[in-house]
Amino acid sequence: MDENILVINAGSSSVKFTLFEMETDTVAAHGVIERIGLGGTRLLYENFKGKKIKRGVSVITTGEAIGLMTSVVTDENDGVIRSGAEMSAIGHRVVHGGEKISAPVIVDEQVKHIIRQCYDLAPLHNPHNLNGIESCEKHFPGLVQVAVFDTAFHTTLPEHAYLYGLPYRLYREDGIRRYGFHGTSHQYVSRQAARLLKRPLAELKIITCHLGNGSSITAVDGGKSVDTSMGFTPLEGLIMGTRCGDIDPAICHYLKSRKGLDPDQIYDLLNHQSGIFGLAGIGSSDFRDILGAGQRGNRRAANAISVYAYRVKKYIGAYIAAMGGIDALVFTAGIGENSPVIREMICNGLQEINGLGIILDPEKNAAEIHGTFEIHGDRSRVKIFVIPTDEEKEIARQTRDVLRTHSPT
Ligand code: ADP
Repeated sequence: MDENILVINAGSSSVKFTLFEMETDTVAAHGVIERIGLGGTRLLYENFKGKKIKRGVSVITTGEAIGLMTSVVTDENDGVIRSGAEMSAIGHRVVHGGEKISAPVIVDEQVKHIIRQCYDLAPLHNPHNLNGIESCEKHFPGLVQVAVFDTAFHTTLPEHAYLYGLPYRLYREDGIRRYGFHGTSHQYVSRQAARLLKRPLAELKIITCHLGNGSSITAVDGGKSVDTSMGFTPLEGLIMGTRCGDIDPAICHYLKSRKGLDPDQIYDLLNHQSGIFGLAGIGSSDFRDILGAGQRGNRRAANAISVYAYRVKKYIGAYIAAMGGIDALVFTAGIGENSPVIREMICNGLQEINGLGIILDPEKNAAEIHGTFEIHGDRSRVKIFVIPTDEEKEIARQTRDVLRTHSPT
């Protein structure tokens, strides 16, 4: 069987796709159709021969985007396969699987039903994810489709970590609890860290910091997620580009009673106007812009970064306590991979804490390497790594594993 696996991430305004050739561990083609339904919709595509396409397209639905993707990857000149028959499966990123799904699964009617049941929990993602799956069923009839859930890695959270201090019936009747997100990324980088340490994941305590526009941090004990900063929705936890992270929930009541905001306006304020965007007030949520403004003397911008880094540090301390130790600290995603300044601010002060020894090597930390590298000093008891996340590759790997488990021997 051809070990070609197509990975699809169908979001609210974009469809990203990557075709992996698993045997050779290479990317045959990847692309994105972005700004779907927003005007200025365009296709960006590149195949392994170096052929690049960048052009405006008229696509207004996820279904049309999947149709366009199909014709591009099977195109006589620029495509990389002749038809779906040359693929063994399609792996889909699905954001929310609720409590029921703890592993990647082959899509059937029951799985689609569960994805629909979770619409309320991820209204901006799950409907588009399912749309992507159903469109692929039309374009590639008969091809196995696998759903890989962002929440799955966190289904190992113990009850004491996932329950909120709310009336228990809200958990039982409405499923209000911590679910956690970015699971595929946390799982991928924790596995990579174990590889670098040349030790079994089962005996390691790792803290993984996924620091991007959306940021989250996870305590991975023995390969299992035992606590994570995002909660019922991806709003909780760390401060993010435009999301507030942890706040006193009573602020919502204040915003309603004193500021006259309705629930939708409050939700918008917390999701889109807060975080470092709201703190810095320079009209950008891009960390590079805010770091630059801070360096040019804008105090609010500099403070925004300090607030961000302090929150990460606080969580690292909490997760060391949660696991009773730490062997490795991992930085990943846009900021984690690319910002030595923020990594330094986070680790600053953790050098001698109770003999833990989280010691950065300033030179290694400042190295401009695009890839995996270690940044701890020789005396550091805790190993510190920068590991680029690769959610697509992890989805492809998990899809292949599901196929192997189900294929007749
Ligand atoms: P997401 O996938 O959540 O949209 P990414 O993981 O792509 O986010 O990260 C995007 C963020 O990474 C942006 O805010 C960007 O400013 C930040 N980033 C990228 N490169 C750097 C850098 N060199 N220094 C600081 N921040 C960076």
